[in-house]
Amino acid sequence: MDTVVRRVVNSLFIANTFLVTNPETRETIVIDPGSNHEKIIQAIEENSLRPIAIIATHGHIDHVLGTHPIKEKYHIPFYIHYADEQFLTPEAHTFLEPYMDTWKITIAKPDKHLEEGILEIGSIKLEIIHTPGHTPGGVCIYIGDKLFTGDTLFRLSIGRTDFGGNIEDLINSIHNKIFKLPKNTIIYPGHGEETTVEHEIQHNPYMGINGLYPYKQK
Ligand SMILES: [Zn+2]
Ligand SMILES: [Zn+2]
Repeated sequence: MDTVVRRVVNSLFIANTFLVTNPETRETIVIDPGSNHEKIIQAIEENSLRPIAIIATHGHIDHVLGTHPIKEKYHIPFYIHYADEQFLTPEAHTFLEPYMDTWKITIAKPDKHLEEGILEIGSIKLEIIHTPGHTPGGVCIYIGDKLFTGDTLFRLSIGRTDFGGNIEDLINSIHNKIFKLPKNTIIYPGHGEETTVEHEIQHNPYMGINGLYPYKQK
């Protein structure tokens, strides 16, 4: 089954939300619902999608702010790695006070914890790959030949590690997990445009073969 990916760009930190759909059943996984839940719901309704789960690649606010309204509307479970539950409180976001009334933030409580391994939700089969570094509970979601990397790896960049992360973990996650996937894997990052494993091995200025933390090809 080849899934169809739709992207919604959210205004808060220009984060990407992805709607991953099985075109035969319309069943859809909502990955990283960000700040613009109305836009996300509009994309779901306009395309007659059937949301069956919310999965967050990690707990940062720009990737989970839409969890509450989307859960309220569709009554679907919200999955996140337990190590990132620490970010799902208003108190974790006081640094955002210059931008928004953080006391008004409501983030849904997770229903299920992600673990590394295969996960089947409805008719959609996915693999959860634990990729700590940007945050302790960061994961990548591998569906067919597509990889949703959250803020672990971007096109020609990597995630920052100063909001609960660790650079050594990030390097290990990218080199030992993401770069071990087939070279033609399409990467859908949490911010910015898509790329491939091959492109990042060749050109990423941090993790590529000529990068700051160079990847060593066998
Ligand atoms: Zn993040
Ligand atoms: Zn982000």
